[in-house]
Formats: sequence, structure tokens, C-alpha cells
Amino acid sequence: MPIEVRNLTHVYMRGTPSEVTALSDISFRIEDGEFVGLIGATGSGKSTLIQHLNGLLKPTSGTVLVDDMDIWAKGSSLKEVRRKVGLVFQFPEQQVFEETVFDDIAFGPENLGLSEDEVKRRVERARQMVGLSEEIMSRSPFELSGGQLRRVAIAGIVAMEPKVLILDEPAAGLDPRGRNEILGNVKRLHESGLTVILVSHNMEDVARLCQRILVLDKGRLVADGSPREVFTRGDLLRSVGLRPPDVVSLMERLRQKGWKVRTDVLTVEEAYEEIVRELNGKG
Ligand code: ADP
Ligand code: MG
Repeated sequence: MPIEVRNLTHVYMRGTPSEVTALSDISFRIEDGEFVGLIGATGSGKSTLIQHLNGLLKPTSGTVLVDDMDIWAKGSSLKEVRRKVGLVFQFPEQQVFEETVFDDIAFGPENLGLSEDEVKRRVERARQMVGLSEEIMSRSPFELSGGQLRRVAIAGIVAMEPKVLILDEPAAGLDPRGRNEILGNVKRLHESGLTVILVSHNMEDVARLCQRILVLDKGRLVADGSPREVFTRGDLLRSVGLRPPDVVSLMERLRQKGWKVRTDVLTVEEAYEEIVRELNGKG
């Protein structure tokens, strides 16, 4: 299910002294099954942008199309759009509030008016997708660790069986193990056929996971390309307040020292090969 925005502009508190233009004239199209990373410094407009993609925010000007339909056109159902485009907020565990983990994950599907059996099937499937153990389901969400709670919140959205899954910094604030688990879940969800849009501060994570990267700077889309195209532009990233992946910085420093290495490497393995090649070449 493609998602597209055309000339999207969003102004908060328009006409007041505290007016903020959070998004300026943004256009892109995401095709079915893509895994897109959305990066940018704090305040660059990431959260504002993704809230437009399921109709939580209305554009000040411009158009949002889901499945090639203008979601704000007369006759379009925002409820339907929100079912197809699942959005996991930053710190979603703050919205976990039911008595048991099962009830919490079931909350969304129950509101879709599905049969009890269908709700159970979806909760079970979502539980497995995010790797929660069965015995956790009858516990209170308030007894869980941060990483487990985060997974419960993601499962609640997954149980709605959206076509597109958008996650706002899903690994923020977790320890390295929690981060890896959550990102592994996200990877599996993408492999299961979902289109995924991942908002992240962590360049290594997006470089490793995503097929395409969108870069926002002060509400403008300043880059849209493959991880290799975007991450090897160290100067661009630094100019928008982002830190390039460590291997890119390393290769840049080697070049400054006169080594003839490529800077368009993305992984430690590629960097190693490139350094060995250069050392051998030197004889
Ligand atoms: P990011 O998610 O990249 O940190 P945001 O989309 O949250 O960026 O914010 C973009 C800009 O819009 C910032 O200048 C921010 O202060 C402003 N902003 C965000 N939400 C609101 C709001 N509800 N009311 C007014 N301004 C807002
Ligand atoms: Mg944000």
C-alpha cells in the first residue's frame, strides 16, 4: 500500500506569535514493502511528518495519499486509514493502561468489532511477532521491564494488522540488549510483508536495517536515497546536526592522512576489506 505526500507543509499555532513552520513543502512516495528510515536532528519535524501519514495531523497545505487516495478528501475514512497505517508513538509504554498484557494488546482489535476468536488469534500472532512469552500475557503491564513494555505497545498496534507500520524512535531509552531485541522484531515485521517507516537517531541502526533513508532538516527534506548514498555524505549529515556512522568518519580520516580508501563503506567488514586492500597495495 503506497504512501505519498505532495508539497506537504505544516504550521503549528498559525497566526499567533508562536507560529512554527514544522514542515515545508515535503514530497515523497513510499512503495509497498519498503523499509524506510527517517532521520533528522531533534525538532527537524520527524514526529510531525509521521502523524500526517495516518491522519492524526491535517496538512496546513499539500496532500497525503494512502493507497493513492487523498485521506482528507470527502468520502475518505480516517478510521480506515488509521487501521491500515499503524503508528507506534515515542515511549508508547506511557499508553499501556489495561489490567493484563493480553487485554492491552487486545484493546485495538476489540474496538474493530471483531469476534472473540479473531481477537484471540490476532493477539497470539502479535505476541509471537514481538517475541513475548506466553506466561507474560496474564500479568499486569506495570510489572514488566521497559523493553517488555515497549514490545507490548508494539504488539497492540501489530494486532490491528496494519499494512504500514510507523515507529517513532522505538529503541530510545532501552539498554543495548533491549534495543537489539526491538530492532530485531521490527526487522521481522518488515520481512513478514509490512511496509515499515522507522524514525531513529541512531545512524548505525538505520544504516544496517533500512533500504532507503529520508533526511529532514528544519522541516525540509534534504536527502532521499539508499543508505550508501546518504550516509557516505558525511558533510551533509554534519551540516544538519547528525553524526555519520563511525566507519564513514574513520574512512574520511584515513583519506585526510593520504590513504586512498573509498569513503562509501557502510559496515565494519567493508571498512576492513578496504583498509587491507590499501595496505596490500602499498606493498
Ligand atoms: P522531531 O520529532 O524531529 O524532534 P517535531 O515534529 O516534534 O520534531 O517538531 C518539529 C517542530 O515543531 C519543532 O520546532 C517543535 O518545537 C514544533 N512542534 C512540535 N509539536 C508542536 C506542537 N504540538 N505545538 C507547537 N509546536 C510544535
Ligand atoms: Mg520526535
